[in-house]
Amino acid sequence: MTPEQLWDATLGELELELSKANFTTWFEDTFILRQAGEQLTVGVPNAFTKTWLENKYHDSIIRALRRISDDGVRLVAYEVSTRKEVVSPVVAEEAPVQEVVARPTQQPIEPQQRQTAAQNATDKQLANQIGFNPDATFVNFIVGKKNELAHAACVAVAERPGEVYNPLFIYGGVGLGKTHLMQAVGHSVLKRDPKKKILYVTCETFTNEFIKLVGEGRADEFKDKYRSVDILMVDDIQFLAGKEGTQEAFFHTFNHLHQRNKQIILTSDRPPRAIPTLENRLVSRFEGGMIVDVSLPDLETRIAIVELKSRQKQFPISSEIAQFIASNVQNSVRELEGALNRVIGFHQLNNEQPNLESVKTLLSSFTQAPKRGAVTTKKILATVAQFYELDQKDLTGSSRKKELVVPRQISMYLMREEVHASYPNIGQELGGRDHTTAMHACQKIKGLVDDDERIQNEINMIKQRLYN
Ligand code: ADP
Ligand code: MG
Repeated sequence: MTPEQLWDATLGELELELSKANFTTWFEDTFILRQAGEQLTVGVPNAFTKTWLENKYHDSIIRALRRISDDGVRLVAYEVSTRKEVVSPVVAEEAPVQEVVARPTQQPIEPQQRQTAAQNATDKQLANQIGFNPDATFVNFIVGKKNELAHAACVAVAERPGEVYNPLFIYGGVGLGKTHLMQAVGHSVLKRDPKKKILYVTCETFTNEFIKLVGEGRADEFKDKYRSVDILMVDDIQFLAGKEGTQEAFFHTFNHLHQRNKQIILTSDRPPRAIPTLENRLVSRFEGGMIVDVSLPDLETRIAIVELKSRQKQFPISSEIAQFIASNVQNSVRELEGALNRVIGFHQLNNEQPNLESVKTLLSSFTQAPKRGAVTTKKILATVAQFYELDQKDLTGSSRKKELVVPRQISMYLMREEVHASYPNIGQELGGRDHTTAMHACQKIKGLVDDDERIQNEINMIKQRLYN
């Protein structure tokens, strides 16, 4: 089999396994670059795709390859590249490996065009009318490992609304930037085309309007409002849980817009499948587009966020203080901002310059909380392994032995509960398992914790080790 044939066959396998949207998005523009010994190098159109394949699909790719041929290829690498010219096979055999030119990856987010103050003001006014926070733009968003995919997907949607990922579903814990990203799409679209009709609502508003208008016999008004837009954004869609009538209304609104290639963007605190009592037909609609997650930013990103926000508030702080705040406030970006605001407020009021001591005192309520930051997914894995006297490799490995399954599930549960890791992230830490496996494990242990005293004790003991 030539490398090209091997890759074609692999694509065939993947196509069967993935949804059409995912396959088209991630695989359609991939091609084989070269095979050198055990390593196959796959060309991808941009850095975004490369990251996705590495993080989300690598294992599926390897599995598909193994199903087709179990000899030869052991490693797969991805490289950003333009598709190479088709060369005639005879020449190709002798030709040296072709040099490939890497294309510059993504375009800068929002070209930093010079804008007149007046225009800036009109942009903001426009966005304000829609109910956007004027600061929730891409420029004001710090990109780190834990949000880069969500960010990239939002940029792509902002550039081509309705065309690339529809719907775009962003999920993650509280205060991690979901609303910010969603509104940034809106700002960016409006900047380019102020005529675009964008409707931003919380799920609560959607529900209330539905109940009110339909109850008053004004269903047409409801339809007119929600079906006439170019982009519909619904924030915190998990609140549709348990609301049958509203789900039905949302389903029809969704279909109407989707069929007309109008962009839909949703946020939620959990993935579609994990929203209780969400109708299956809605789950499958949501899963038919792109699902991205945001999770807790790492220290470096948190420092950058503190520095950005302090500049924005025109209260610059030393890097030592930024570092102190970022290392001690770790639960969410919102909390990080709260801590910074406290520091700024206090020092402005007293007309003092902050120093490490004054900041430490002010933030003692944050720093005395259990030191979450010291705990990482890696530490959890190591601690669980040590507690059960297992090898870490056993936890990340594939054996389904009973004595491994529960510790493995407990590791996943703790990663979720203690460091708010995302499900895809947890799956990755556990040796590249699927995010649904992680989700299932967390739910299972959560269910057990309440009525299984042994598990409860074990988890408490592990937690003690984690935090000491
Ligand atoms: P969520 O909707 O996920 O609960 P928000 O989007 O409301 O969170 O974000 C909470 C606060 O944190 C907002 O003020 C937002 O601007 C800020 N924020 C979150 N992530 C970032 C980031 N990566 N860069 C800059 N600010 C951020
Ligand atoms: Mg929000």
